[in-house]
Amino acid sequence: MSQKKYVDLKKGRSAFLETLKQCTFRLNPATSTRLLRNLSNQLKKFSANVRKVKIAANAKRDEDLANEMLGCQCFLDALSFEADMWIYLKEGEPEKAWGALVDAEENMALSKRAYDDEEAFSIFQRNYLEMEKLLFPKLKFQSAAFYHDPGKCTICDKKMADCDHIPGKIYFGQVCLEYGFKTMGAEHVALVDEPHDRKCIMVKYRAPGEDWVNIFTGETEPFDPAKEKDDQEHPMVSGIIMTFDFPPGTKL
Ligand SMILES: [Zn+2]
Repeated sequence: MSQKKYVDLKKGRSAFLETLKQCTFRLNPATSTRLLRNLSNQLKKFSANVRKVKIAANAKRDEDLANEMLGCQCFLDALSFEADMWIYLKEGEPEKAWGALVDAEENMALSKRAYDDEEAFSIFQRNYLEMEKLLFPKLKFQSAAFYHDPGKCTICDKKMADCDHIPGKIYFGQVCLEYGFKTMGAEHVALVDEPHDRKCIMVKYRAPGEDWVNIFTGETEPFDPAKEKDDQEHPMVSGIIMTFDFPPGTKL
């Protein structure tokens, strides 16, 4: 390791730990929306810089450093998603807040897998699954059985069947994922407690002949028979069955 690289990483490390200390004080709903927004932007910028170091480490085939930077990047991303969640909740947008909390959760879990940073986790800890129970109603998730043609590998870009990479495993700071399907469809959708994708939620429901009820707020929303197909006999649900985001860490 060159002297310059060592010094830069040491500086970066102390800035990272300082940022975590700042979050223990400011990352909560009592903080003004303006300052939470500033904090979220600051965390996103920091994460973008860490990503550059990760990409350089990946190019140099330095797996330890690349994984450490992935862990650090995901930690910062989790915190910026948490800041976004508080902002959405304060602005009365619980559905968006839920999406941000799921993103925070997924990034924090990957951070722990990529680089279990004892010092960082001793400064700042969050249990997002516990936070979920405190901040949101118990949600019903939707899980669809999908079919698709074979995709490509995010690590080597070959057909998944033609390479040795294992989906979900971390290689040089990047998570392997099968992607780029040409055809894809859902066979059936079920309401479940433990879904594959926690963003696939039931958002509102409706008893025959009644208005919609929003799961998050409990408020009713008018049913418009001119725009929506009515079902006089069965309860109706409306929600998300599929999201197209790349999971954290799968793009270098
Ligand atoms: Zn591969």
